[in-house]
Amino acid sequence: MPLIPKSHPRAKSLLIREKLVNGFDKGLVAKEGLLAQGRGEAFDYLLGEKTGRTASKAIKAAAAQLLLAERPVISVNGNIAALCPKQIIKLSKQIKAKLEVNLFYTNEKRKQAIIKTLKKYGANEILGTKKASSKKLPGIDSARRIVDKDGIFAADVVVVPLEDGDRTMSLKKAGKIVITFDLNPLSRTSQTANITIVDNVTRSVDLLINQSKELSKKNEKTLLKIIEEFDNKKNLAENIIQIRNNLTRKAKIA
Ligand code: ATP
Ligand code: MG
Repeated sequence: MPLIPKSHPRAKSLLIREKLVNGFDKGLVAKEGLLAQGRGEAFDYLLGEKTGRTASKAIKAAAAQLLLAERPVISVNGNIAALCPKQIIKLSKQIKAKLEVNLFYTNEKRKQAIIKTLKKYGANEILGTKKASSKKLPGIDSARRIVDKDGIFAADVVVVPLEDGDRTMSLKKAGKIVITFDLNPLSRTSQTANITIVDNVTRSVDLLINQSKELSKKNEKTLLKIIEEFDNKKNLAENIIQIRNNLTRKAKIA
């Protein structure tokens, strides 16, 4: 390990990278997933490698939205299975959401490795595994639009961490409310989702679990008010300003 104190944000980021590389070695992560990690790291660096105020606001809105959802589903890909399998399962139990393995780069072997990991960490039901249950999202003909009829297809709210923009747009077109974790506030996914948590998923998923616990004591009216008051576009704009301010500060130090 590098000679940086363990508590330093950089050291934590290097540990996250190590988890992803291990995931790649275990067959969970696609090559493209490594590149996505690199893009994420760059933005994490620019965001100061910590959960900011804007991310906290999005987490609160996401928790409220998930508590109001009737059929919430969390989409799991290779990067998530490598980075935070335990936490994502804990989130699914907390908010009573189904888990669906949904891969952008479809590969049966990788899918099985992801399912095995999720089972190892305590997942009960995992959707997206049976051909007989697969359905295409309406209006889209690519094979990448295949989802589980009892999962994403029927969902009202879908959590898609680290997702590609094409797919996020197709979920929106299909009428889903989309919540994402994405470190790049400029990505198409960030810009298209209803609620974008611009933070490293490994940091903010625990915060979302806690916030969901906290807000589960609130009534429907209060939860609706939280969602109404949240403005994703405005929040994303604040994230970009935050990056600009960080850059200005770093430029002054240099
Ligand atoms: P888009 O398709 O939305 O325009 P993209 O093509 O640049 O984005 P993808 O590979 O499709 O990127 O999506 C992966 C996204 O996940 C990227 O925006 C990347 O910054 C983000 N990301 C990578 N690792 C993490 C992480 N650990 N936490 C949160 N976001 C991450
Ligand atoms: Mg993409």
